Amino acid sequence: MQAIPYGRQSIDQEDINAVINTLTADYLTQGPKVQEFENQFAEYVGSKYAVAVSNATAGLHIAVLALGLKPGERVITTPITFAASANCVRYAGGEVWFADIDSDSYLLSLKSTEKLIESKPKGFFKGIIPVDFAGLPVNLEAFRELANKHDLWIIEDACHAPGGSFKDSKGTKQMCGNGNFSEMSIFSFHPVKHIACGEGGMVTTNNEELYKKLLSLRSHGITKENMSENHGGWFYEMQELGFNYRLTDIQSALGITQLAKNNAGVKRRNEIAKSYKEAFEGKIKYQSLPSNSYNAHHLFVIEVEDRKGLYDYLKEHKIFAQIHYIPVHKLPYYEDIGYKGVNLINAETYYSKCISLPMYPTLTDKEQIFIIKKVLSFVNE
Ligand SMILES: *Cc1c(COP(=O)(O)O)cnc(C)c1O
Repeated sequence: MQAIPYGRQSIDQEDINAVINTLTADYLTQGPKVQEFENQFAEYVGSKYAVAVSNATAGLHIAVLALGLKPGERVITTPITFAASANCVRYAGGEVWFADIDSDSYLLSLKSTEKLIESKPKGFFKGIIPVDFAGLPVNLEAFRELANKHDLWIIEDACHAPGGSFKDSKGTKQMCGNGNFSEMSIFSFHPVKHIACGEGGMVTTNNEELYKKLLSLRSHGITKENMSENHGGWFYEMQELGFNYRLTDIQSALGITQLAKNNAGVKRRNEIAKSYKEAFEGKIKYQSLPSNSYNAHHLFVIEVEDRKGLYDYLKEHKIFAQIHYIPVHKLPYYEDIGYKGVNLINAETYYSKCISLPMYPTLTDKEQIFIIKKVLSFVNE
């Protein structure tokens, strides 16, 4: 049996051709493929606007800046996420506050978030960054209600969830990133995520003002919008301090062909999840999967008592499971700036047991049967 990673990209001849065609076209960057990718992505998730960026971390950075986050202002996120969900707040000089997770869904707990907000005076927090962890969509309708009550913004970190959706209280399907309940949503195109661009990301929004701000911040704060007939063709203004967070046409071409395959990829991921669930039912705890949502299944997470034992045992059999994640407040940088004694019991208990099993569209049935057999034999020992 070949080595089995926890996740991997799927690149086919169509993807390769798309990249090669772009290499001989007029634009390698700032050309038509970028906008084509943005338009198709916005259409896919059902948002008005989409802004392609060099990676999701850059997207998170300009998202908090677009919302005007200032040094010292406070934002709530989940401890069970990739560090970037919190780091973006630090880039802007803001303070990160962590609420606990729900022990079954592993998502930021609405109750814990509400408790945290209500323990402080009004205006103490500016926003919330919930994460569609492992591909399971956060119930953003419920978070929106809470946010509105306390005048907070929401940035949905949807890096794990392109193609995921949940049903709102009226039974209407709400795609991750459609902008109906969040100011902005962020997606990643790192190869381990659903859509591989090498590096890349997308910010979606329904708000025109935020959209314009994102475009400006992505490209140095430079615009030609005030150009008049009296100006020469070279005219531009730098109105604010922005960045070069652009995605190239080469990457966008790959993103377009990858996006077209995302529904099939998510469908396959759900088949794999179903087989894991059937095999583990009543024996091993896995992420709860509410019936009102369609999980994009970036990951399939289980909990076991001897997590390190299982990790090492699978590795011996060339199955490379992964841990998602070391709680962000436990990372040395965050401990050093004052998060050391923070007590997030659900997150810490989860972290002591969690392990992510291989999950990607090209995982074969034979490989999955092998994985399941090894997991069960370890747990039953
Ligand atoms: C991968 C990831 C990011 C960062 O994405 P990059 O494109 O690598 O910058 C942010 N948040 C979450 C939850 C992620 O999984």
